[in-house]
Parts: sequence; C-alpha cells; structure tokens
Amino acid sequence: MKIITLNDNDLDQNTYIINLDDRIIIIDPGLNFKRINKYIYNQNPDIIFLSHGHYDHIASINCFDKSKIYAHIKEKQLLSDPNRNLSAYFQNPLNIDGINFLKGKIINFDNKIKIFHTPGHTEGSIVIIIKDNIFSGDTLFLDTIGRTDLPTGNQNKLCESLRIFSEFNKNSIVYPGHGKFFTLGHAFKSNNFLCKSQIFKPIL
Ligand SMILES: [Zn+2]
Repeated sequence: MKIITLNDNDLDQNTYIINLDDRIIIIDPGLNFKRINKYIYNQNPDIIFLSHGHYDHIASINCFDKSKIYAHIKEKQLLSDPNRNLSAYFQNPLNIDGINFLKGKIINFDNKIKIFHTPGHTEGSIVIIIKDNIFSGDTLFLDTIGRTDLPTGNQNKLCESLRIFSEFNKNSIVYPGHGKFFTLGHAFKSNNFLCKSQIFKPIL
C-alpha cells in the first residue's frame, strides 16, 4: 500500500492518493485537479471518499466519475447547498448528482476499508481506516480538532466522536485533512481534546 499526500499551499488542504492492491483510492479531491491527475497518470480512480463536504476537500469532484465517489448520507444536505459547503464563495458550483451515500455508524466498506461516522466538524464527517492508516479529515489533528463554527458544526458531537480513536492501535498513522501526519499515540500525548474525550468513555 502506497500513500501520496498532495498538499494545497493556499488552504493547506491534504488530498491523499492511495494505491491499494492496484486500486487507486483518492481521499478528499481538493483544489488542485491538475496535480491529482498527474499523480494518477490520467487514470480513473477506483474509489473516491469525501471525509466531509467543505469546498476545500471536494473542489475537484466535477472532474471525476460521480459513481466512484462516496460520502456519508448525513452530509448530503450540506453537499447539496453551495452556501453550506462554501463553494458559493469560490464561484465554482459543484454537482453532486450521482455520488454514493453511505449509511450507518460503522461501515465495513470492504475487508480492507472501514468507515466511521464522526459528526461534529460537520454532521456527516467520516473517518476512513485503511489497514492501520487513519484518514481523519477535519475531525482530528495532532494538537487540536476541527472547527465547529461552520454550518452543521457541533463541538459536543465532535468530542463524543473522538471516543472512537481509543479503539485503534496507538501505532496507527493519522493522516489529517490539513497539516502533517502523526501517530495516534503521539496525539494521545499532545491533544487535550482527545485525552479528555477518553475520560467519559463508558466502561464496557
Ligand atoms: Zn472542513
């Protein structure tokens, strides 16, 4: 499995291009379609996941086959509304017709890819797990969490969603929507939100 990170300089957004068993997976096709296309040698990706519906993470979706794109059903409203997904500010109306919506809290996409619904940054935010790699979107960063002042954001829900990270191997690598990657164990030492969320974890 190979992971390439394409960082957009303007908004510091990360697009991830993953080669898994000869499948090309893209997570968050952001602003720079030309660079993405160059890295995939103009091939059609097999799967595209949207960690959430904010413009900087979805700006290139019109350039891809919509039947390959997946987002959470709880993000459908935000994705459909240019004011809520912020594309109205960038004069680039996006069309989500034909994309696929996933349902449920924990989704076994296939035997190597698992999706967790993690509302908070937006109502339909997801975290994507591929082997021991965690693609956290704007839910978790090394020292902090995603902002919750934009449409459908909710800090209480986000803190609640952070509980899922206790389920994962601390050696897992976290690939966030912005900024550099880090190990989950490192975040447990440096991220106060993550540490606090575990205090309220129910005893199983
Ligand atoms: Zn965002």
